[in-house]
Amino acid sequence: MIEIKKDFPLKYRNTFGLNISSHYFVETSKADKISFSLNYASYYNLPILILGGGSNILFTKDFEGLIIQPTVQGIEVIEDAPQSVTIRVGAGVNWDSLVEWCVSRGYGGLENLSLIPGNVGASPIQNIGAYGVEAKDTIVKVEGLNIITKKMAEFTNAECLFDYRYSIFKGELRHRIIITNVHFKLSKTPTLITHYGNLDEEIEKLGEKSIKTVREAVINIRKRKLPDPVELGNAGSFFKNPVVKASVFESIQGKFDKVPSFPATENHVKIPAGWLIEQCGWKGKQVGNCGVHKDQALVLVNHGNATGSEILNLAKQIQKSVVDQFGIELEMEVNIV
Ligand SMILES: Cc1cc2nc3c(=O)[nH]c(=O)nc-3n(C[C@H](O)[C@H](O)[C@H](O)COP(=O)(O)OP(=O)(O)OC[C@H]3O[C@@H](n4cnc5c(N)ncnc54)[C@H](O)[C@@H]3O)c2cc1C
Repeated sequence: MIEIKKDFPLKYRNTFGLNISSHYFVETSKADKISFSLNYASYYNLPILILGGGSNILFTKDFEGLIIQPTVQGIEVIEDAPQSVTIRVGAGVNWDSLVEWCVSRGYGGLENLSLIPGNVGASPIQNIGAYGVEAKDTIVKVEGLNIITKKMAEFTNAECLFDYRYSIFKGELRHRIIITNVHFKLSKTPTLITHYGNLDEEIEKLGEKSIKTVREAVINIRKRKLPDPVELGNAGSFFKNPVVKASVFESIQGKFDKVPSFPATENHVKIPAGWLIEQCGWKGKQVGNCGVHKDQALVLVNHGNATGSEILNLAKQIQKSVVDQFGIELEMEVNIV
């Protein structure tokens, strides 16, 4: 039998640390038990939410339905070739433990994604990325249970329609698939990607360039730059970096000194959302119980007793001021529930 818990507290299951609960909650590692939970939800007509580590979610109130947390464990080598290794990883495996597992065995590809919070099952959802690398670069297949048909389904990398902080699981198949396993192909002779930000500089301090020093450098930088959710509730970057037309970028350049940017497509440029927010005067501002981080304008924080609605209101105020000042709409990266 599977235990469905009632009025389950979520304070320690969301990195904003919001004091909310779910009317019903189940954590399970078996696909058949997930099916049972789905039947339970349809019988009682309950909305469903899939929860991983809760590090990319903002709950605006108690969840009036059933939360299913897939805890499928295991890292299994399914192909060991001379140059590469393909592994099948359970959705419930902690992301950074996976990265550590790979790096300690000399399998390259995930080292730049060190210390991203959350679980493996969520990694394809928004195609997590950091320091010039995205999950899509190594994901070969995603397995999951279709909530509607209750059948297992598989998606190749191409079928996942990965893009910047996007996949089919955020689009057409939003809330339709419960990811149970993800397959990654890693390299035994990895090409290191170290040109991003001050990564090269940090690696130099650590010695010879290797996947181990890349991981160490990423961890050092992230620890310096980002607030630890255990100490200050947050969900990392709250907004996506907007991609704007080159003409829009040029007009901003005409008004501000040194506008940071990254090339996106031939006629488009990506501008760091944090820079736009900072120019609007939000960096370090506290509004009631929440605010904008003092060093990272892209990170909204819970100063203690904030509610999800307070944080959402702050996010909306920020969006409005960026529209007013730059005419650019910031899209939220965090999933609002
Ligand atoms: C300090 C900090 C730093 C961060 N840095 C980065 C970063 O550098 N790059 C980056 O991309 N992200 C970053 N994030 C965001 C976050 O860590 C990632 O998006 C992560 O993949 C979310 O994983 P999770 O398990 O916590 O997902 P959750 O927050 O639990 O869920 C996120 C979404 O995925 C869905 N979901 C979760 N698991 C499953 C599943 N098994 N099947 C189907 N749907 C599922 C949920 O319904 C929800 O819509 C950061 C967050 C924090 C707090």
